[in-house]
Amino acid sequence: MNYQEILEEIQEEVRHMLPAGKVATYIPQLSSISPHKFGMAVQTIDGDSFQVGEAFEHFSIQSISKVYTLALGFTFEGEKIWNRVGLEPSGTTFNSLIQLEYEQGIPRNPFVNAGALVVSDILVSHLKDPQPSFLDFVRQRANNTYIQDDPLVAFSEGQAGFRNAAMANFLKSFSNLTNEVEEVLKFYYFHCSLSMSCVDLANGFLFLANKGHCPWTNQTVLTASQTKRVNALMLTCGTYDAAGDFAFNVGLPGKSGVGGGIVAVIPNRLTVAVWSPGLNKKGNSAAGQYALELFTTKTGVSIF
Ligand code: GLN
Repeated sequence: MNYQEILEEIQEEVRHMLPAGKVATYIPQLSSISPHKFGMAVQTIDGDSFQVGEAFEHFSIQSISKVYTLALGFTFEGEKIWNRVGLEPSGTTFNSLIQLEYEQGIPRNPFVNAGALVVSDILVSHLKDPQPSFLDFVRQRANNTYIQDDPLVAFSEGQAGFRNAAMANFLKSFSNLTNEVEEVLKFYYFHCSLSMSCVDLANGFLFLANKGHCPWTNQTVLTASQTKRVNALMLTCGTYDAAGDFAFNVGLPGKSGVGGGIVAVIPNRLTVAVWSPGLNKKGNSAAGQYALELFTTKTGVSIF
């Protein structure tokens, strides 16, 4: 398949709709990014890569990092992890507090903020030095030792993070947070602040298209069964309460972040990452989601 030609056609179509949606402003450090940016990258498990637009430019991966924290947490806890975090789509916004009260402090899934805070807590418990260890895990998956966190983004989010702080305290009141609230929030803001490009993300999710085996380090990160589970969660919960719309229009497991990135996986075939900072009403990249819809339409591949 000529993926390069398809990416170029997509870029041409998407360019006309830019700027689309609104750049996230609730994290002040993210608000100054141009909504005209657009990049896209494909990496196949056969080793071919394709890029268009600003595919090498770094952006804040935000919630996309929650796939990495889940993968790492899963390696530590195995199936026990599901005692502390659920498996169902939330049908609410990613930072909603309301469900947590009804459901006694067990977050709906690992990708809403409450669920990601529980997974952060798990990693803080297991890792002696959580920040460098986590960074190392991501660098290895993406085959890029230059990936960095962005302390200004993390600080900015902490300053404005009243809702996440409320959520962490709430979880603590239900005994679903074992470490200190401050420590968990610090690690959460750290992992959300990683800066990566579409190329990094396409490389960095390849293990999920490859039955859990990371081709760059030749390591088995997750078992084939765990990989299916992470992909299933991305399909049902990876784009928050737009997961139905995303499955309907794109038809792939995918994970978005408020920095405007989305990564999607076609198991046993490839990964595709896209970035455009303007978000739709559900908090997913507007042009990014449309580009992925064009990708599955033009290539005729989806998981369905
Ligand atoms: N760090 C962001 C937050 O906690 C992540 C949200 C997102 O990307 N959807 O609000």
